[in-house]
Amino acid sequence: MISEHIPRVIIIGGGAAGFFGAIACAENVKGKADINILESGSHFLTKVKISGGGRCNVTHEMEDKINFVGHYPRGKRELIGPLSRWSQEDTVWWFKENGVELKTESDGRVFPVSDTSQTVINCLTDTAEEKKIRLNNKCRVNRIVKSDDDSFRIWVNKQKDPIAVDYLLIATGGIRSASSRNLLESIGHEFSSPVPSLFTFEIDDNKLIELSGLSLSSACVSIKSLGIRSTGPLLITHWGLSGPVVLKISALGARKLEQVNYQFKIQVNWLGEGWSFQKIRKVIESERNKNGVRKILKKSPLKEIPNRLWGRIVLKAGTEEEQTWSELTKEIATNIVDLLITEEFLVSGKSLNKEEFVTCGGVLMRDVDLRTMESRLVRNLFFAGEVMDIDGLTGGFNFQSAWTTGRIAGEEIALRCLS
Ligand SMILES: Cc1cc2nc3c(=O)[nH]c(=O)nc-3n(C[C@H](O)[C@H](O)[C@H](O)COP(=O)(O)OP(=O)(O)OC[C@H]3O[C@@H](n4cnc5c(N)ncnc54)[C@H](O)[C@@H]3O)c2cc1C
Repeated sequence: MISEHIPRVIIIGGGAAGFFGAIACAENVKGKADINILESGSHFLTKVKISGGGRCNVTHEMEDKINFVGHYPRGKRELIGPLSRWSQEDTVWWFKENGVELKTESDGRVFPVSDTSQTVINCLTDTAEEKKIRLNNKCRVNRIVKSDDDSFRIWVNKQKDPIAVDYLLIATGGIRSASSRNLLESIGHEFSSPVPSLFTFEIDDNKLIELSGLSLSSACVSIKSLGIRSTGPLLITHWGLSGPVVLKISALGARKLEQVNYQFKIQVNWLGEGWSFQKIRKVIESERNKNGVRKILKKSPLKEIPNRLWGRIVLKAGTEEEQTWSELTKEIATNIVDLLITEEFLVSGKSLNKEEFVTCGGVLMRDVDLRTMESRLVRNLFFAGEVMDIDGLTGGFNFQSAWTTGRIAGEEIALRCLS
C-alpha cells in the first residue's frame, strides 16, 4: 500500500503573523498537513507581550474602510484587497469566538477586556496546540533553498542536514537584522532598506524640557521642508516631543528623515486646527480689556494652553515677569501669537518610543501576490506581517496587517495542501 504524503508546512517566525497564518492553515486543512512554527527566540509572541504598554492593542475599530488604509504610510494601496477579505471586524470576531473578550476605547483602539496581552498570547498558543500545530522555539532558519519540484530545503541552527518543506511562510518581522535580510536574499527576494518608523523627537531646549510631562490634546506639528503635517495629542518629554502626533509624523516622513540624519526643523501649532492669527489676537485683546492689572504670566487666557506652557511662551515672546496685561505692547502680543501657532524647534535626533516601534521597509510588494500572499518569484513561498514593506501608524494597525496577511497566506496554504 502506498502511504499518503502529508504536506509539511513551515512557518518561520513565531510572532502575530506567524501564529495567525499557522492557525488559519490548521482551521482549513483539518489535520491533512504537518504544520510547524519555527521561532529563533526562547519565547513565542514576544512583541505581542510588550505591545500596547503590556495591554496589546489588537486592532482598530473604524467603519470607513478607505480611512482605515489611510493609516498605513507604506501599504495603503496594497492592503485594500487583503483587508476586504480579513478586516478588523473579522479579527474582533475571531478573538471573541476564541474566548478573548475585547473592548473598544473612545479613540477606536481595541484591547482585551483583561487589559493584559497575556490573554491574547494564551489564546493564540492554546489554539495552536489544540490544532496540533508544532511549536518549536530556539530554531533559527538560516538558509532556504528551492528544489526543482517547487518544494524547499531549509537549514535550522547549526544542523548539517536540511529539513524538507512543501510550503513555506516567512513571517520573520521587521528586517532590521542582517540575518533576516540574508534569509530573504537566500531565496532571491529583494527588499527596500529598513529604517525605523514611529519614533519621538529629541530637542535640545532646556526651557521646553522643563515642562516635561505636560500634554496637549490637539496640537499640529509640521515639517515644512518635507511638506508633511499632522494633528493630534502632543506630549512634552524629558528629551523633547512625543505623543501620537509626533509618532504619526515620524512614520509619514520615516525614510526622508533618515536621509537627513534625524536633524530637521519642525513647526508647532500648540493650539491645533481652527486658530487664526486674528482669532488669537481677539482673545488677547479681550484679556487686556478685562484683566489689565493682572500679570500676563500668571494665567493662560486660552483653555487649550496649560499655564506652564503659557508662561514659557510669554517669556520667550519678550514679556517681563511682572508685566501686566495693560502693559502688553503690540509687538510682544504679535510675538506671543506667532509662538502659539508657528513656534519652531530644531530636532537633533530620534529616540525610539518604548511603547511602539516598527520597521519601514521590507519585501517589495510588487513581488507578492496580494490575493494569496504568495511570492510572485517563488512558487509555494508566502509572506505575512512586518517582513513586508507595509507598516502602520499607532493604534492597532500594525497587528491588523499581521492578522490579515497571516490569515490570507494560511488559508491559501491550506488550499494547496488539500489540492
Ligand atoms: C514595544 C512595541 C509595542 C507595540 N505595540 C503594538 C500595539 O499595541 N498594536 C499594534 O498594532 N502594533 C504594535 N507594535 C507593532 C507590532 O508588534 C508588530 O508590527 C507585529 O508584532 C509584527 O508581527 P510579525 O509577526 O510580523 O513580526 P514579529 O512580531 O516581530 O515576529 C517575528 C518573529 O520571527 C522570529 N524570527 C526572525 N527571524 C527568524 C528566523 N530566521 N528563524 C526563526 N524565527 C525568526 C522573531 O524572533 C520574531 O519572534 C508594537 C511594537 C513594539 C516594538
